[in-house]
Amino acid sequence: MKFCPKCGSRLKLVGDTLKCPVCGVEEKPENKVLHVTPKNRESEPIIVVGEEAEKLQTMPTTNVECPKCGNREAYYWFVQTRSADEPTTQFYRCTKCGTTWRYYA
Ligand SMILES: [Zn+2]
Ligand SMILES: [Zn+2]
Repeated sequence: MKFCPKCGSRLKLVGDTLKCPVCGVEEKPENKVLHVTPKNRESEPIIVVGEEAEKLQTMPTTNVECPKCGNREAYYWFVQTRSADEPTTQFYRCTKCGTTWRYYA
């Protein structure tokens, strides 16, 4: 049971709104917690944070085929995910068209 924040009277439930019968203060019930669907790992956007984007200028390149344009040279770098039990993810970025993709070992 909730009480009016203004006059302390007991609030009455009118529809889905709590209403004070004395002064008319209305209080909406708290928002329901939305069920969040876990994200699909494969569909996560690849985020290159600022520091990594800058380092990209001096990134080493390797002989790997770009899945988009077929260019055979790409920058590569590694990203360690937060949890220790997850393996390091390797990323490639095509030197020609800039396509970035993950490599799973
Ligand atoms: Zn009241
Ligand atoms: Zn490419």
